[in-house]
Amino acid sequence: MTYRDDVPRVSIAQIRTRFLPRVFRLLDRVEIEHGGDSCVVMLVHVPGHGTVTKARRLTCPRCERPALVLGRVARLGWACKGCGRWRSRNRGA
Ligand SMILES: [Zn+2]
Repeated sequence: MTYRDDVPRVSIAQIRTRFLPRVFRLLDRVEIEHGGDSCVVMLVHVPGHGTVTKARRLTCPRCERPALVLGRVARLGWACKGCGRWRSRNRGA
């Protein structure tokens, strides 16, 4: 069992704060790093709720699906929640 508390995570919201808005808009990939384990992940646009805005997502290096959060999972490396299968410790059974 992998617990969420043990998984260093990076969200698209955290990445957005690293860049000026006009820089972030043009990014198509970004490097994420934890404990010396870095990975370049692709950024994709997904349809947003509005007609103008498009939401940004990270791309999971394992399954290539869009993800809001990637985590550094022991033995797997960077992965989305679906691939990494981490769980919240305080969720029942
Ligand atoms: Zn994945």
